Amino acid sequence: MALRITFHGGAESVTGSNFLVEGEKGKVLIDCGLEQGRDASIREMAEPFAFDVPSIDALVITHAHLDHIGRAPKLMREGFSGKVYATHPTLDLMDIMLRDSVRLLAEEAQEHGIPPLYSEHDVDLLMARAVPLPLHEETEVAPGLSIYFRQTGHILGSVSVRIKSADGTAIALTGDIGNTPNPYLPDAEPIEDADALVMESVYGDRVHDHKGEAREKALRDALSRAIKRGGTILIPAFSIERTQLMLYEISNMMDAGELPRIPVFLDSPLAIKVTEMYEKWSGEFFKKDVKEELKHEGSLFRFRGFQDTLSREDSMDIDHVPGPKIILAGAGMSHGGRIGRHEALYLPDPKTTLFIVGYQAPGSPGRMLQDGAPKVNVNGRWIKMRAKVEQFSGWSAHADRDGLLEFSEKALPRTKTFFVTLGEPASARFLAQRIHDYLGAKAVVPTAGESWEVTKEGVTKIST
Ligand SMILES: [Zn+2]
Repeated sequence: MALRITFHGGAESVTGSNFLVEGEKGKVLIDCGLEQGRDASIREMAEPFAFDVPSIDALVITHAHLDHIGRAPKLMREGFSGKVYATHPTLDLMDIMLRDSVRLLAEEAQEHGIPPLYSEHDVDLLMARAVPLPLHEETEVAPGLSIYFRQTGHILGSVSVRIKSADGTAIALTGDIGNTPNPYLPDAEPIEDADALVMESVYGDRVHDHKGEAREKALRDALSRAIKRGGTILIPAFSIERTQLMLYEISNMMDAGELPRIPVFLDSPLAIKVTEMYEKWSGEFFKKDVKEELKHEGSLFRFRGFQDTLSREDSMDIDHVPGPKIILAGAGMSHGGRIGRHEALYLPDPKTTLFIVGYQAPGSPGRMLQDGAPKVNVNGRWIKMRAKVEQFSGWSAHADRDGLLEFSEKALPRTKTFFVTLGEPASARFLAQRIHDYLGAKAVVPTAGESWEVTKEGVTKIST
């Protein structure tokens, strides 16, 4: 019995993850993400899905990043009546992220003169269909199709999904694979039981500079330098994972006496809620040795000197705290959120240090700051830039080129075909070439809308 996979999104693109797997009777959609970073994407996303939504039996979510979940509520508008399966933390994070994006989508839609992609009501309808599934348990989610979750160590609750038909033919999808080792998230678990593997390839052609202790040392040294300057340390950070990772590192360095104990503020309502979810699920979804550490310490992300500032008043009060102090806030590319207010206040001060810990997309305010622009427009205001910039490249939440190849190798010998997705075309092709050359396996870079039939023997492209 063959399975059929169609690459509706995330083909030759990092974002917009959206794959349809069909068996003889059942249909399962894996991820339903937003496309980000392209001018045309807002209009394109408003168009109906390319597949028949009411006939989908189940939606399975790998993890709660918007490029994997951001279009899911739109399914409700097109007649989806199945269940939504994910790990418990993914469902919790999904609820937070989708509700947070409603206002932003409404603003964007107004700007483009189109109706918003979805409303809070659509999120309510979608979340009412949610079914949490544990790791490592085979569950039938559609007629003749079962799924199985394994950790990927990318963000809290992130998993790969293996889909199996009644005769044992199996396709697995990696979702996003983490940058192993992470101090508290478990390593990505190998997938050894799939006939075809849909691989992510965000960093398919690049290697991260600093790893492990070198990565920590670079951060510690930069923090020490910045604290000595006596000013404010601004860390724009993504609300899921990068924020918690920074808090974890700063907490450890202060507890170990490697850094002086200065005030640390988490000034992002979204990141505060996400951090609470990290704490809620740490017992079940963190590494084993970290679970032990937690028994003694209570939280990995809170420490003496740490303060979260949920209300606007608390946020404004940060202004009155003299430096040195650390402020973590969203958005990660300084393209919104509360970081803009702090940047307006502190970037003109030469004692300030701006930490760039994540990817900055071309055109974003964060990218301009990274590239040394003398002034930058944040939230409609021009800001003079006199602060020092410290840049780090090793804190990505994605495995690099070598990590991805290593992960692919573990899928052999059962996996005979790799579909390389979720990367820019150059990155996807580079990884596909390496899988072919080093592992001697078939590697395909599918284009958007392409369908393939998968059997235990191999794969065949279905002409459309
Ligand atoms: Zn992700």
